Amino acid sequence: MLVSPVFGPEPYRGVEDLVGYLAVGGYAPLTARDRLLDRIAAVGLRGRGGAGFPAAVKLCAVRDAPGRPVVVANGEEGEPGSVKDRWLLRHRPHLILDGLRLAAAMTGAERGFVYLSDALAEQAVRHAHAERPTGLRVDVVRTHHAYVAGEETAVVRRIEGGPALPTAKPPRPFEAGVGGAPTLVANVETLARIAVMHMCSDAAVGVAGAHLVTVSGSDGCAPALAEVSAGTGLKGLADLCGHGGAEAVLLGGLFGGLHGAGWTDLRLDHDRLKAAGGALGCGALHFLHPEDCPVAVATEAAAYLAAQSARQCGVCVSGTEALAGTLTAVGRGAADDAAADRLHRWSRQLPGRGACGLLDAAARIAATLLAHFPGRVAAHRDATCPACADPPPGDGRRFTVPVP
Ligand code: SF4
Repeated sequence: MLVSPVFGPEPYRGVEDLVGYLAVGGYAPLTARDRLLDRIAAVGLRGRGGAGFPAAVKLCAVRDAPGRPVVVANGEEGEPGSVKDRWLLRHRPHLILDGLRLAAAMTGAERGFVYLSDALAEQAVRHAHAERPTGLRVDVVRTHHAYVAGEETAVVRRIEGGPALPTAKPPRPFEAGVGGAPTLVANVETLARIAVMHMCSDAAVGVAGAHLVTVSGSDGCAPALAEVSAGTGLKGLADLCGHGGAEAVLLGGLFGGLHGAGWTDLRLDHDRLKAAGGALGCGALHFLHPEDCPVAVATEAAAYLAAQSARQCGVCVSGTEALAGTLTAVGRGAADDAAADRLHRWSRQLPGRGACGLLDAAARIAATLLAHFPGRVAAHRDATCPACADPPPGDGRRFTVPVP
């Protein structure tokens, strides 16, 4: 796997240790917490967990809420096509612990957690935790790996000893999280970027604007973890990673939908991708090549999401199963005349009705398949598609990328 520069001019190798981290300015005292917060706001750092919410707004909300805040480094990476968070935890644990320390200082928290599921990541974090300078009390909380386990209310629930399943909102964790305290649940990449901004204020604009992206596809090219600037064209990124012949892209892990003709004009930018009907999400990009059937890809994605439903919300259970089942029937040429209408209707009606974004992701998969590939969908009525003949695996294997 290609690992391009990650928070530095050269590709990062190995696992950072305390000596090396201190040598580059790590764990430097924070003498003016508001100055760092102002810098984060000024450069417009957005959270890297998927929603792209402004980091400074979230920090201020936690700081200003009544009660003693809690901070959480969220390293549970539910999207099967993303590896950036586990890579950071395994290779840059001090950067994350330092970012967590700074987040605690900015919000006034005296308690922190690192939340993760990956065993190697846990090992690296525990080692770094043992050798780091004393300060913020930090506990490592392990969860099971699941699509929804990193959702912020699921994080709080698991830290409190419950299952890693989302809860209804409000309240959101910034209002009432761990033990009822205002809680910052921050993605580990977000915290890592805060730590770099503190070490090197001159680089803040570039650090806030860059994204870690996981690039994969089905043509035999090795997946890549790359750090690229906001606004980078997807076509250039695809060329760089060996996917120049791609015909489509699945955006944001499974969250941003399928994009066909015109995908080469897309750029890595939350707002522009949203305007195009997609989402950057966690920054995972899966390219589809001419040999890939978009109906098969959509069906596998929907089947995986149906299998990952936490089965708490009735509308999610019935909605994801209906989407996956109907897409399977479309792929086999066995759908009735009203199937496309039903998919259209569900993709409009289902988003926002579950306690988390899983149902929205499944609905967007169906909506973008119909919008971008009407001819390929219709062709399944006239001829057998070998890629759609077998039942779709529900384990997400097509999209799963190994952590480098
Ligand atoms: S929307 Fe689905 S995955 Fe999310 S909490 Fe409800 S049942 Fe669980």
